[in-house]
Amino acid sequence: MTAYPTLKMLIDGQWIATGEAGEMAVVNPSTGAEIGQCPKASTAQLDKALKAADDAFATWSKTPGAERYAILRRAADRLRERAPAIARVITAEMGKPHAQGLGEILSACDTIDFLAEEAKRRGGRLIPTRGQALIAQMVTHEPIGPAVLLTPWNFPVNLPAKKIAGALAAGCTAILKPAENTPASAQLLVECFTDAGLPKGVLNLVYGDPGPVSEHLIASPVTRKVSFTGSTAVGKHLGALAASLMRRFTPELGGHAPVIVSRHADFERAVAMCAATKFRNAGQVCVSPTRFLVDKAIYDNFVAEFAERAAKLKVGDPGADESVDMGPLAHSRRIAAMEQVVADVGGNRGEVVTGGAAIAGQGFFFQPTVIANPAPDSRLMNEEPFGPIAGIVPYDTIEDAVRIANSLRYGLAAYAFSGDLDEAHYLGNSLRAGMVGINQLIVASPETPFGGIGDSGFGSEGGEEGYLAFTDTKLVMMAKAGG
Ligand code: NAD
Repeated sequence: MTAYPTLKMLIDGQWIATGEAGEMAVVNPSTGAEIGQCPKASTAQLDKALKAADDAFATWSKTPGAERYAILRRAADRLRERAPAIARVITAEMGKPHAQGLGEILSACDTIDFLAEEAKRRGGRLIPTRGQALIAQMVTHEPIGPAVLLTPWNFPVNLPAKKIAGALAAGCTAILKPAENTPASAQLLVECFTDAGLPKGVLNLVYGDPGPVSEHLIASPVTRKVSFTGSTAVGKHLGALAASLMRRFTPELGGHAPVIVSRHADFERAVAMCAATKFRNAGQVCVSPTRFLVDKAIYDNFVAEFAERAAKLKVGDPGADESVDMGPLAHSRRIAAMEQVVADVGGNRGEVVTGGAAIAGQGFFFQPTVIANPAPDSRLMNEEPFGPIAGIVPYDTIEDAVRIANSLRYGLAAYAFSGDLDEAHYLGNSLRAGMVGINQLIVASPETPFGGIGDSGFGSEGGEEGYLAFTDTKLVMMAKAGG
């Protein structure tokens, strides 16, 4: 059993256990037990972190890409070595089963590696000039400046790692404010960077109440870039503040991913993948498949098999039993949110085929839930559930399915299963989302851009976009000195 670490902030290279604004409890969602006390930064402490990031930017932004690469690669190696222990802390803080936590961390290592390589690899470009007088038109990507990184609890290592690696690789300094319920996961990640030899002030870590801390950091004149992952409502609020101050802003927000299952799909493969992926991380994944739109010819079988698989999942405390398939929800608010979704179906507004209720006990457990034929205006079909609830509806034509899939303002991920080449092509082209998965449900890898459209945000993390998101584009047009 990994001991829960003493929580400390990192400000200007110093680990600080005392929060001048007090402390907040960290709770294990599987047991409801308090596992730690997290220091809360005062505005003076936030200002120190901002000053440290500002001071360090002068040297870090000029550090050669090859040196930034070497430090980031060492950090990824530290993270790989420590992955099993850190995965246990993820389990304790937010209830993710160990194997899923381990997978998250190893994927974060690969992302850090990829972005580190961008620091060596990424150049600018030369654009041909229009006349003899000009010698060169040179485009470069300059680090924006100190970045504020605001991350949620559902991927408490991978999401901070993506943002930190993108910022640091590009030559930016950063202040990370992780979610209040998963501070240790972030702290152990940040330690990998400091142990890898990162100079002081380049990366700072602060904790506290998310609203006031985020707003103070964004409003500071030091801050040049804000990267936020979380809900659409908070993203819009923080985005309005960032825009009013001309801070560059990348929001990665909620989603409500549709999955179209055609009569031409490999049925067994599709239903097995859908049922397994829906309940990963208890459905608390922004790209989680959620609205299943199934051809009416295969609908009844799909519902029956999906529900059977859901009902068989082993739900429990992953800290006590590593073989559980699904842990708890991250906190009690999520249980209340699931209950509201279920309360909105029934009668002619949908049928709970399996699950539908919280599981009694100290932890925040909710049954894997399948709802057949939820009404078009139900919460489930319109609001991101962010939990272990799947809605399945039949469709008549593939065009109807696409219309329902594209009917919401969200546009993060969308998926489709079809063995018909023309239809698969049509679906890939017609689904309106930042990321589309065809015949599989994975839309993230270290090398590829990750991001949404519409109410799911804009811009991308990961891939080369995850590096460029922390840069300003600069043009240098050079003429002969003698005219
Ligand atoms: P929540 O909005 O209370 O918290 C979600 C995250 O936002 C937390 O990390 C929190 O620290 C942060 N946050 C909350 N209020 C904030 C504020 N005023 N300023 C800055 N940050 C703030 O919701 P919750 O119940 O914990 O999580 C569920 C909701 O969050 C869902 O609607 C889901 O869309 C969203 N969420 C999205 C992602 C994602 O990957 N896009 C991840 C986690 C949560």
